[in-house]
Amino acid sequence: MSVLAQPADESPPSGQSQAIDQSPAIDQSPAIDRSQAVDRSSPAESPHDHRRLGRDLDIFTSDELAGAGFPLWLPNGAAIVAELERYIVEVERRSGYQHVRTPAVGKRELYERSGHWQHFGPDMFPPMPLGRGDNDADADAKAGRDELVLRPVLCPHHALVFRSRLRSHRELPLRIGEVGPQFRMERSGVVSGLTRVRGMILNDAHVFCPLDRAAEEVAAVLQMIDQAYDVLGIQAAHHSLSLRGPAEAGKSYAGSEEMWRKAEVVLRQALDLRGVEYREQPGEAAFYGPKIDVQVYDAQGREFTLSTVQVDLYQPERFDLEYVAPDGSRQRPVIVHRSVLASMERMVAYLLEAYGGALPAWLSPLQVRILPVGPDERDAARRVAQLGLEAGLRMDVDDRDESLGARVRNAQLRKVPYVAVVGAREAAGESVAVRLRDGRQAGVVAVERFVSGVRHAVESRTSDLTLPK
Ligand SMILES: [Zn+2]
Repeated sequence: MSVLAQPADESPPSGQSQAIDQSPAIDQSPAIDRSQAVDRSSPAESPHDHRRLGRDLDIFTSDELAGAGFPLWLPNGAAIVAELERYIVEVERRSGYQHVRTPAVGKRELYERSGHWQHFGPDMFPPMPLGRGDNDADADAKAGRDELVLRPVLCPHHALVFRSRLRSHRELPLRIGEVGPQFRMERSGVVSGLTRVRGMILNDAHVFCPLDRAAEEVAAVLQMIDQAYDVLGIQAAHHSLSLRGPAEAGKSYAGSEEMWRKAEVVLRQALDLRGVEYREQPGEAAFYGPKIDVQVYDAQGREFTLSTVQVDLYQPERFDLEYVAPDGSRQRPVIVHRSVLASMERMVAYLLEAYGGALPAWLSPLQVRILPVGPDERDAARRVAQLGLEAGLRMDVDDRDESLGARVRNAQLRKVPYVAVVGAREAAGESVAVRLRDGRQAGVVAVERFVSGVRHAVESRTSDLTLPK
């Protein structure tokens, strides 16, 4: 997946990625009351800037010692990432994907083979020489033959998974998925927040299939992207068919004319199968093949690439990938590279901005906050929280010595979807008084029904906070 995590707006100016004057794709968040929040943001940050939301909501942080472009996910951010990963892995499993785990580093030789070293080199971290003569036992290391690099993409490892044994046509399409790290050598001056990072966790997969099956595989990915956008509340701006540009534009491409022509036919067929309209974007292809990019707008109205599907006839040849066809002959598969959720960093940045931090309950780091009215209701509040935790929900109790109103406001500022107040009457009746994040009151509800209602909302991944009656 070459171009994905280097979304259009982060590449050198290329025409496609200039800011476009469009209103934000979605904004389902309630008006934000920031009067209580301490403003530590720079003047350039809007209230919907993910860097500001990330700080105010304790989603991520950075530290000079960790290095620029290597954000640290705090517990709230890690909870969002875990939910996104759980969601996409479930979807992929239902669609016949198998998941693997492969290393974050590879030998330089691996990327020379894939072509990344030659075509993608400036975006890669410098190689790490192993054993500078201090390990006499390792002759390879001494001779400098074992240089390692942080991987810029996952495809080469997945190609090695494919060729780990001889494959039969019966195993195809072989869909190999991984949510794993990759690295890009961004200049330190430009890294920022979650959108310009040097290390990212990618929702990646590679489908190995015969050429004549590739169009339906690409179409299936486009459908998966549509479904995911429905669930996440993302509105695609448009689809791009990213093609090679003119040679004089300075980008280098690998592979033969015939490879490029075949791959382009596959992508056009898939777009037609799905009835998707698209714009051609010369010069935006990956170095190994053309791709379909799904473009969205961020909260500032800037366009960027979120999801991508690519058809590649080049790397299969470089890795000499083969399968045994029904007639016993050896045939070469193609690779469909695809990412639905992009990098977790980019997706969380996008969602934070699109929702103004008020994420749907299933993605909210804290789903329910319990507020005992006074010390007498503390134990009852803790019993409710315990029930919720046992039901798999993320709940806490705010029993600080502050007025109920102040604690309700604090929960609103933290964008907690459900607030459950426990007064004397509720404590005696095993119930809670429910307030929704948008200010609606949902009345007094029996504790068990409240917990099962929230659980239902979370499991169905709805963005509607209304509890079933
Ligand atoms: Zn790939």
